[in-house]
Amino acid sequence: MIYTYNKFTINIDTSVIQTLSKFEQYNGQNESGGALMGYIARNELKILDCTQPNIFDIHRRYNFIRNIFGHQFIINNKYNISNGKINYIGEWHTHSEINPKPSKTDLKTLMKIRRYKNVKFPVIMIIIGQNKTYWVGININGYIHKCKRYI
Ligand SMILES: [Zn+2]
Repeated sequence: MIYTYNKFTINIDTSVIQTLSKFEQYNGQNESGGALMGYIARNELKILDCTQPNIFDIHRRYNFIRNIFGHQFIINNKYNISNGKINYIGEWHTHSEINPKPSKTDLKTLMKIRRYKNVKFPVIMIIIGQNKTYWVGININGYIHKCKRYI
């Protein structure tokens, strides 16, 4: 699946979409979330892998609090086995709505993660809605943009 914003292309690997769609949130289920991993080559962001909710995460109906350590461990491991090629590139979580829209908290998070992770590159947030609908946002230099579905 490919999204674009301006000169940026966000290429989400099919395997990631398959994993994320398992967590689509329907009646009564709680939000899930995790980290996105991949790399940036020029203006193309390739999302190749993601972490999945683990037992240390706190699931609630309207929010999802990630346990940093479990996810960070997986990211570090991936970074090492790929010789530094694959790294943290953003976050994903679910919403129980079709055509998901980011909440104020989501936008704040997307602003914060760039600073908190101390990364200079753009970071991505994918919100998984119901019926294979998505919201993809990118934070470039502290500005958040909604990406458009391309393919
Ligand atoms: Zn949200």
